[in-house]
Amino acid sequence: MGELIKKLLLTNSIAQRLWAWRSEGLRQSHLCYNPHCPNSAQAIKSHILQKNGILNYVSEDIGNGKEIIELRYNDYFKQDKTRKIYDFVKAGVTKSNEVAFWGFCPECDRNLFSSLEVGPRDFTNRRNQTLLTYRALMRDICKQEYNIAFYTKVRTSANVTREARMYCRDAQLPQAVQLRSNYELRYRLESFLFGGATDYVFNYLVFCLPLVKLAHSAIIGGPHHTVLNGAEANELLAWKPDYISIGDASQYRFTGPLGTFNLIPTANELIVVIGYDENMQEICGVPIKSINSIDNKSKFKLISDILITRGKSWCMAPSLYENLKSAGHDDLILDSITYFGPDRMKHLTPAINMFDGQGLF
Ligand SMILES: [Zn+2]
Repeated sequence: MGELIKKLLLTNSIAQRLWAWRSEGLRQSHLCYNPHCPNSAQAIKSHILQKNGILNYVSEDIGNGKEIIELRYNDYFKQDKTRKIYDFVKAGVTKSNEVAFWGFCPECDRNLFSSLEVGPRDFTNRRNQTLLTYRALMRDICKQEYNIAFYTKVRTSANVTREARMYCRDAQLPQAVQLRSNYELRYRLESFLFGGATDYVFNYLVFCLPLVKLAHSAIIGGPHHTVLNGAEANELLAWKPDYISIGDASQYRFTGPLGTFNLIPTANELIVVIGYDENMQEICGVPIKSINSIDNKSKFKLISDILITRGKSWCMAPSLYENLKSAGHDDLILDSITYFGPDRMKHLTPAINMFDGQGLF
């Protein structure tokens, strides 16, 4: 915790208290996210990728049960001695944390997403595509709601340093901007999924590639920048996120490009599902309209670019990780993810293609 103490002028005991608040918050569940939940029940940890479906094709048993390698973000308030912001870590499929979030009660989790998990899955089907987007969105929303609750607790505490309060103020503002935009997107997706609306929000591209044992499902954005004046910032800081009480979230319409990026491995191929709204004309410099016609090498480069600049919590097979390591790509990928992390970097394209040398093209 040395780095953190220096930056936020914390004593060891305050740093420990902050981490205790953080982890205590993350352990708590909430009411099921389905607005029409018949149970009013607490949410369980939903998997962004299905344990018995997608993860089956990523996990490998090399002696310790089924395991995957996850991209893990080291929480700022926990950053360990290595001070690495991102890392690849081994995780058991059932204990995997990065691909799970507090989402829905057991019944809603099972019923809502069964068409993505059971039997032949059709990813050209509009409802299934929207369900993929919806689940990825709810993961982001969960993360942002928990972050805002934690930042608010620190900001309003007399028992931390001024630097820690300021850090949380600066961190809370972009999260609140994004969460409002996500509430608007949630409202539109739910109107389509549950309300009979005909607006399916995103258009989708679906194509297949030679199998790579790698999985991802997340909302992606383009480069954007929000400038807030003092009054707007204060209003955002005082805002208590509560989707249900908002009702119609269309007041929070986001104007930046927004999409969704899904890598779904099966027994013999990799299915790629890309969703995009009317503002997204290109992804990582590749025009959306041309993606279907570029060759496999260019498609893998695009996937590599998206994972590095916009990817969230992806996971892969231990054997793929070993291959990336042998090619000397593992640290390069982690450094690149850190470099391209800030929104202001998202118009740039990484030099590396992480799939080079894997015999895929
Ligand atoms: Zn429910």
